[in-house]
Amino acid sequence: MSSEAPSFLIIGAGVFGVSTAYHLIKKYPNASVTLVDRDTYDAESRVAASWDWNKAVRADYDDIVYCQLALEAQDVFKSDPLWKPYFHETGVYWICRSDYAQDVINNYKKLGRTADLAAYPIEEARKMYGGLFEDADYSGAKEVLINKTSGWAAAGDCLRAVTRKAIELGVKYVAAEVSALQVDKNRHCSGIKTATGTILEASHVILCTGAYTPKLLEFSAATSGFAELRAGPRIVAGGITTGMWKVDDESYERFASMPVGFQGYNAESGAFIGSLPPTKDREMKWWGQTIFKNTREVLPGRFISAPPNERDYAQWKVSGKLKEDIQYASNVFYGKKSAHWTHEKHRICWQV
Ligand SMILES: Cc1cc2nc3c(=O)[nH]c(=O)nc-3n(C[C@H](O)[C@H](O)[C@H](O)COP(=O)(O)OP(=O)(O)OC[C@H]3O[C@@H](n4cnc5c(N)ncnc54)[C@H](O)[C@@H]3O)c2cc1C
Repeated sequence: MSSEAPSFLIIGAGVFGVSTAYHLIKKYPNASVTLVDRDTYDAESRVAASWDWNKAVRADYDDIVYCQLALEAQDVFKSDPLWKPYFHETGVYWICRSDYAQDVINNYKKLGRTADLAAYPIEEARKMYGGLFEDADYSGAKEVLINKTSGWAAAGDCLRAVTRKAIELGVKYVAAEVSALQVDKNRHCSGIKTATGTILEASHVILCTGAYTPKLLEFSAATSGFAELRAGPRIVAGGITTGMWKVDDESYERFASMPVGFQGYNAESGAFIGSLPPTKDREMKWWGQTIFKNTREVLPGRFISAPPNERDYAQWKVSGKLKEDIQYASNVFYGKKSAHWTHEKHRICWQV
């Protein structure tokens, strides 16, 4: 590093970019920290996967490294006044078709963490929470993991609040589309070029561009001549559908304090899917099990999966088939009673 004060250019203001900016400015209050995103942080609609009605906040991972990192994040959600208002400790209800529950419980033990979590036999679990999940799909299920210390967060609201705080502390927010990285002949990345031709420079450039990353690296490889910048199979963009149902008054009573539901399908039976409790607008959310690629020729002879070219990733254009994915998701949690629920909002969420 040079003797000059470090400067940081962070591309992408989703959860990774904003968190990086926030922590950098706290650690180096005199540094120049700039967040660049194609969308303003308070835009009506954003493409960030992190910009969402809600997201599960959990440490129920069978991978111990994930479990430890998520426990640290959850500690922040539960104690830091910046995050705390957005976290809801509703617990999670995880229908397990493998040794998942035992692996999670063992991870907590190995990490020396005590929490209200246990594995329940299916017949006992389906009677819990007033029988909310009694009609769920338990085919092939071994047991149900209930972790009362997990929950969900109002993701978009929280992201906005932390972004505002970072700006208040001195982070600069630039709304611009980045078209390529600036890489010199010594393979040093000195900054970025925006779609309108502006060059922004910094001693450190950090990419937090989510699903757009492989495409940005592909363009950067083409403009710099360094083929090794390409992501190749290391980073692949995929889309998943989410859908919302406005809960009627009668059902709201039942669902208001429900845990986050997970259907732990596996490699043979499909990706895991989830059901999130109603938001303050009384909307319940599901995500579906179809994870799809959008592989296109982005440059002559270069085929990669990337979000659609539209400015908003065409995230609100959801096909009938993908909407069925959400109907299916509600069905495997709530059975017949979900048949008349109309999912009014659908969005495709792009991530890597
Ligand atoms: C359907 C679905 C459900 C999920 N549920 C959960 C959950 O319940 N709990 C959980 O923890 N995780 C969940 N995830 C995963 C989580 O959403 C992502 O891991 C996380 O949001 C990724 O954050 P990010 O900052 O990397 O990317 P993003 O949030 O996608 O942010 C990337 C940012 O980069 C910007 N950007 C990209 N390219 C450019 C460019 N060229 N120029 C300028 N700006 C650019 C975008 O505008 C965007 O704001 C879910 C993901 C999906 C798809």
